[in-house]
Amino acid sequence: MSKISCVLILASLLVISAVAQTNPASQPTVWASKPDAAAFEKFVNERLAGGQKSIDQVIAVKGPRTIENTLVPYDEAIRQVNTGNYLANMMFQVHPDVAFRDRASVMTQKANAFLTAVSLNRDVYQALMALDLSKVDAATRYYVQRQLLEFRLAGVDKDDATRARLKQLNDDLTGEVTLYERNIADDQRSIEVSTAAELEGLPLDYIDRHKPGADGKIRITTDYPDIFPVLKFGKNADLRRRLYEQFDNRAYPKNRDLLMKMMQTRYEIATLLGYSSWADYNAADKMAVNGQNIANFIHDLDAAARSGAQREFAMLLTEKRKTEPDAKEIWDYENSYIGEQLRRSEYNFDSQSVRPYLPYASVKKGIMDTAAQLFHVTFKQEMNVPAWTPTVETWDVIDNGVTDKGRIVGRFYLDMHPRPGKFSHAEMVQVLDGVRGKQMPEAALICNFPEPTASDAGLMEYGDVTVFFHEFGHLMHHILGGQQQWAGISGITMESDFGEAPSQMLEEFIRSPQVLATFAHHYKTGEPIPAELVARMNRASAFGRAGSTAAQVSYTALSYDIYKGKPTDVDLDVVSLADTKRYTLFTPSPAIHMYASFGHLSGYSSAYYTYMWDSVIAKDFFQQFDHSNLLAGDAPMRYRRVVLEPGGSMSANDLVKNFLGRPQNMKAFQSWMGEEFDGGAGGSASATN
Ligand SMILES: [Zn+2]
Repeated sequence: MSKISCVLILASLLVISAVAQTNPASQPTVWASKPDAAAFEKFVNERLAGGQKSIDQVIAVKGPRTIENTLVPYDEAIRQVNTGNYLANMMFQVHPDVAFRDRASVMTQKANAFLTAVSLNRDVYQALMALDLSKVDAATRYYVQRQLLEFRLAGVDKDDATRARLKQLNDDLTGEVTLYERNIADDQRSIEVSTAAELEGLPLDYIDRHKPGADGKIRITTDYPDIFPVLKFGKNADLRRRLYEQFDNRAYPKNRDLLMKMMQTRYEIATLLGYSSWADYNAADKMAVNGQNIANFIHDLDAAARSGAQREFAMLLTEKRKTEPDAKEIWDYENSYIGEQLRRSEYNFDSQSVRPYLPYASVKKGIMDTAAQLFHVTFKQEMNVPAWTPTVETWDVIDNGVTDKGRIVGRFYLDMHPRPGKFSHAEMVQVLDGVRGKQMPEAALICNFPEPTASDAGLMEYGDVTVFFHEFGHLMHHILGGQQQWAGISGITMESDFGEAPSQMLEEFIRSPQVLATFAHHYKTGEPIPAELVARMNRASAFGRAGSTAAQVSYTALSYDIYKGKPTDVDLDVVSLADTKRYTLFTPSPAIHMYASFGHLSGYSSAYYTYMWDSVIAKDFFQQFDHSNLLAGDAPMRYRRVVLEPGGSMSANDLVKNFLGRPQNMKAFQSWMGEEFDGGAGGSASATN
């Protein structure tokens, strides 16, 4: 149906080990054939059929198993199904037509069902088991061993009765997770206030949006755009308290019993597969490896954050005593408001003052120029390329490295502005896995940044600029890590608890006054952003890091504690109150049940540690760069070679050790938390050494 499928069918006939260097520029762009919904569906079905054909080929082998007759078709199945799945997933998020998106959603489910069936296919598992790995290269060996681990974690090697029970439990779990999340989404709560005077301190546009109803009462809901401004700006403490209590009681008591059931289901899955807890089972294919390492991490992070959190708490208490001289404690619902007051009085920073320096077009150019220098690549736009919507841009990534100078190593699509029905946050999505000599990696950024027009420069929030570079980091990781021999280890396929570290590191680059000055120019005067303004912004944003780390420690501990042993030993209210009291300094409101609405307890389960784990690695990585000129020296190229280019061809624990010369530790993270007290916070040498 399309040029794409023709090329893929041809490509699948090539013998992979030949590394025939096709001209990557000849690879058609993803939307070259402009498919309608029927053609799109046919394309995805053909990829799934191609995947099935390759799986059949793996199983049909008679005689000795070899890489050629077993791993080559296995990996081809992965590549084919991923191609279909990636496109279906992306179309579900971006296609302007709702009927098209609905069909894309069905195709995503179909592709995922295919992958689940493969993971439980005993014939495929035994075929991979029979491979002789003694003479293969390290990446191939790692690939096969990791696949075998995933098969075992799915229970493929268990007897029929156990497998049937596991299937039942996994189906139950899917239902429980969906229901838990729906209970949260459905339980919008609200409070009423009698007069607009109670909304004192809130922005005028907020008050304008909250007019009294027919009964004269103003209704404030627990939805994010309603509650967060109240907690941050609302002068009325009683208003904050009442709303906070409603917020942290969403989905209670429904989700208490449901979460207990989910923990029980997960415990049974883990024990059937030979693990003593869900936390151990869930960590088995991650950097953490087992639950004990998560417990150790929680302990170390708590120790690293404690003194800074105490200093910040003392400053907050001083701020509170300006209006309540006898105050001895700070309630959970007061934290955000007092922090905001303190940032204003102490740091004199207004986030609106930065926006005029951040018009979208300059930011885009600045992000891409910075990335080009950092990763030693050039970006070249392809013009007049068809896409699902006309504003999408198509770019080639050209290598400036020594060995591959001038070669096109990847392609990406930028879909950057909001429109109805589109995915509403910011993300990178894979489009094609890179397979060396066979298929060039492709990815897309799906974002919702302001769109510049003739009369509007599209000024961005500073936080949006950070998000842009963060997502661009995922994209470069997928492309630079996408020069592998196998699709299954290409790009961002390493352990899932490493995935955020490279992008979190890039966030630090956007705090550098030098980096910002190269592109953050006033949209009217062209004046570069003053270093003094950046320094003030960085100081203001640095305040509160230790306290918010302590809060993250308490969430991480809750996520671990409820999954670390037998669910029958857990009382959710006791555990969540104990973790809050143990790790944070704020006084918890009575009668709240936040575990009922903390959605990550279902999705991440015991792996909520991932976020802070990667943050610690990111700060450690960042220390390796020259802080007087972040883009200079050998660190950027070394980082690209050692951390990004291996993709998923080795354990992320080794990537970290290879770059740092040791495993990650808390030192860099600890000084990052303390920046506000060292003065001159920013991406400068003084702040972090
Ligand atoms: Zn991310």
